[in-house]
Amino acid sequence: MHYISTRGDSPAVTLSEGLAAGLAPDGGLYVPRTLPAIDWSAAEADPSLATVGRVLLGPFAAGDPLAEVLGEVVDDAYAPPAPVAATNDPRLHVLELFHGPTAAFKDFGARFLAASLQRVLPEGAPTTILVATSGDTGSAVAAAFHRRPGFRVVVLYPEGRVSPRQAHQLEAFGDNVVTLAVSGSFDDCQAMVKTAFRDGALRAEVRMTSANSISLGRLLPQMVYHAATALQVAARSGGPVGLVVPTGNLGNALAAWLAGALGAPIHSVVLATNRNDVLVDWSRTGRFEARTAIPTLANAMDVGLPSNLERLRWFLDRGVQGPAIHAVSVDDERIRGMLARAPERYGHVVCPHTACALEAYETVEACREGPWVAAATAHPAKFDEVVEPVIGEEVPLPAPLAALLARPRHAHPLQPTDAALRTVLTRPLGLA
Ligand SMILES: *Cc1c(COP(=O)(O)O)cnc(C)c1O
Repeated sequence: MHYISTRGDSPAVTLSEGLAAGLAPDGGLYVPRTLPAIDWSAAEADPSLATVGRVLLGPFAAGDPLAEVLGEVVDDAYAPPAPVAATNDPRLHVLELFHGPTAAFKDFGARFLAASLQRVLPEGAPTTILVATSGDTGSAVAAAFHRRPGFRVVVLYPEGRVSPRQAHQLEAFGDNVVTLAVSGSFDDCQAMVKTAFRDGALRAEVRMTSANSISLGRLLPQMVYHAATALQVAARSGGPVGLVVPTGNLGNALAAWLAGALGAPIHSVVLATNRNDVLVDWSRTGRFEARTAIPTLANAMDVGLPSNLERLRWFLDRGVQGPAIHAVSVDDERIRGMLARAPERYGHVVCPHTACALEAYETVEACREGPWVAAATAHPAKFDEVVEPVIGEEVPLPAPLAALLARPRHAHPLQPTDAALRTVLTRPLGLA
């Protein structure tokens, strides 16, 4: 399997080359040149993450050194479970993606990427994992690479725009993790990272790769839990399943759509966004414009222009058939309303992002006929300062999160300029 750039101006690469590069040299995103035919029979017989991971990702690693070790990588990435829980609504299940070390779905992709890179990067100079985060990516990536020899993690986050607990998680590592508190927006952080990757002189000096949701190493493994869930629910209900996915950069939802395009029993994917609604315009008109991100209660989805839209459009422009796409925007008032109603209506205390998914489930016309699965992308205890006042009780911390929050904090302030980031990257900070 080879991967090419969405912008068409970079040489084709193998999977491990694509993982090591992050963004393609022409500034595009790597996409598989063709979608492989998947033989689903083993996954239908055993829709566990371990088996679905091998069945679905095998063809994407074909011809690459990763193919030899894919089983180990899958087992490492999917060590945390992803249970499909019933709700009080018989037509709706919830896919709990928050049982990993940082209590959000991004742990799966980050662990897959770390386990893969550790096995395929050449020996020699340490590799810097450079990542901009709107909240959850950075801590997941830091946790996945923390104290892994041969790696340094540099995380940028918009200071004051993530929850206090998210900030503590981002700063809870030290050692080979350098956490930069940037006085700017997430879009600023993302732009700085993109510039650094395009800076040829810098790349010659510092071996770097990305771990943002643009990375193939995040996108591909995220297909696995969507496919496994769809197989499990479809086996019980006898027909294909609709998925509602809280959406910011469109990484998780694109993975769900791709899993469906590859033949997993998924008929629709609902993109549940917060007030940042570029995808709603795009799904209605086919047109969109980059906007400034608006801060919301579901802050891990505060994205002006979802970076993976370029990938989705690339597939659609080439006539790839996949699940139907619906997009819906949920404002803060409706998020609060759903946080308050969800415990009784569905039997789950949810995070603000998951609340967007439940609200979308109730409002999208296509959701009238079941079965549906809403992705619960983070544990509500990560957003205690939003959730607890609304539900009027404390949300107990899951054990891994409690352990992280007991650690001391390490952070460096940073101006939102390319030069400031360059200075950090060329210093041996985090490499000692
Ligand atoms: C990152 C994140 C999202 C958005 O996921 P994308 O892949 O960027 O669309 C949703 N919910 C939570 C909790 C997140 O951390």
